[in-house]
Amino acid sequence: MRKVIYPGSFDPVTFGHIDIIKRARDLFDAVVVTVAVNPTKSPLFTVEERVHFIKESIKDFTNIQVDSFDGLVVDHAKSVGASGIIRGLRAISDFEFEFQMALMNRKLANDIATIFLMPHEKYTYLNSSIVRNLASLKGDISDFVPPIVQNALKKKFEGNN
Ligand code: ADP
Repeated sequence: MRKVIYPGSFDPVTFGHIDIIKRARDLFDAVVVTVAVNPTKSPLFTVEERVHFIKESIKDFTNIQVDSFDGLVVDHAKSVGASGIIRGLRAISDFEFEFQMALMNRKLANDIATIFLMPHEKYTYLNSSIVRNLASLKGDISDFVPPIVQNALKKKFEGNN
């Protein structure tokens, strides 16, 4: 059984993340989407909210679990029995950071592979921070995030301006 984890901040989950989840699901037997607690970032949504948004957005998919963790990705991968880490690559700008992370993770755990997947071209410019900014300025985010996230962002920024 080939299990992989897909870690990230998912603050909030976008159609780009969901595209990668589908691609991973088509390649592996099981996918664990893991919301990482990153102490260097101050997220807009709590870990519980981020997990809930992902679960709701993929509730019709099979063989996918959603969880969260606070610690090293490779440790979490081992604890759930995953043999690989999925990361999405949008553009060359992602490459250097992802390359460093993948090599560091290999150094920490030689038996855990990092697998990069590319989303559909229409999501290559999409990231959570652009969506947060757009929502804060009351822009239309319906092409970028699932309905549950659209509503949560609208609520978050209600009354701004
Ligand atoms: P992180 O803070 O770990 O970068 P993100 O939630 O921003 O977390 O992203 C998690 C993973 O999903 C990363 O590998 C990132 O490159 C990938 N990703 C984010 N947005 C997209 C997108 N639009 N298309 C493909 N991959 C994406």
